[in-house]
Amino acid sequence: MKIAILSQDASLYSTRRLKEEGEAKGHQIQVINYLQCYIKITAHQPSILYNGKPLESFDVIIPRIGSSKTLYGTAVVRQFEVMGVRSANSSQAIQRSRDKLQCLQILAREGIRIPVTGFAEITQDIDDLIETVGGAPLVIKLLEGSQGFGVVLAETNQVARSIIEVFRQSNSNILVQEFITESAGEDIRCFVVGGEVIAAIKRQGAAGDFRSNLHQGGQAKKVKLTSQEKKIAVRAAQATGLNIAGVDLLQSNHGPVVLEVNSSPGLEGIEKATHVNVAGKIIDFVTKNAMLEVSAAAGRRSARLPL
Ligand code: ADP
Repeated sequence: MKIAILSQDASLYSTRRLKEEGEAKGHQIQVINYLQCYIKITAHQPSILYNGKPLESFDVIIPRIGSSKTLYGTAVVRQFEVMGVRSANSSQAIQRSRDKLQCLQILAREGIRIPVTGFAEITQDIDDLIETVGGAPLVIKLLEGSQGFGVVLAETNQVARSIIEVFRQSNSNILVQEFITESAGEDIRCFVVGGEVIAAIKRQGAAGDFRSNLHQGGQAKKVKLTSQEKKIAVRAAQATGLNIAGVDLLQSNHGPVVLEVNSSPGLEGIEKATHVNVAGKIIDFVTKNAMLEVSAAAGRRSARLPL
């Protein structure tokens, strides 16, 4: 099969591994920097130009869209879809999961437990907003942050108020969330491929940091999930319509809660900690399944309009 990996940098671990595994399985793999793609939108012959030349056709694409380039990246993925090329994750599902608020609303609609979360536009509502999530300690998050950047813990209502004011003044969209104290700087990353958890790690934040992101110095180790955790991770991926997803869970006193669902989960931490060939499993999935149907089926089951 001819497979394109959409990635800004061919030397990134995840991109390299996908290419390596794809080639080892006899496929033709090309890494395409989606930022160098131009889109031509016409009804007769929609196309993509790459470095000024029309792009050859592919059977399937594996998008690895950077969080700061969601708008352009998903426009390129959508153009492949318009041209009839299958995508491992659809442009719509990527967009849904990138907006933390939308993602949480979708999870809540499906009855999947999440930390209590508040969102407001007007600054006068700050005290109410803080109360909505039960007061401090609470977590304040930039709507489009990733890898732990723009995620702040406020230990007191006073600190929370000051942080919210600063974010509001810079016109940043934020959400306010109940702090799951008992998770103690640990979370679980479940790697879901095609409706199945294929690998999972527990991440522990660096000393003194409540964020467990590996990019913030967190450590990863292999973990065995309970069947409840597996089920929640799969449901969360399906709710957002992602075939390939990194679902982050926190252990709360009331059981696991879903923190977020990532559309381009990193491969390095999880492959090294678990020795699971995650890249190989992704290649097998995209070459053996009609991915768009999988997402469509998830949408049909809930019989609701897509958010
Ligand atoms: P990002 O998308 O930037 O990774 P997250 O929402 O996943 O943002 O938060 C980063 C990390 O901060 C999480 O992995 C978790 O360890 C910690 N964290 C985030 N929200 C909460 C919360 N409500 N309670 C406890 N810890 C949290």
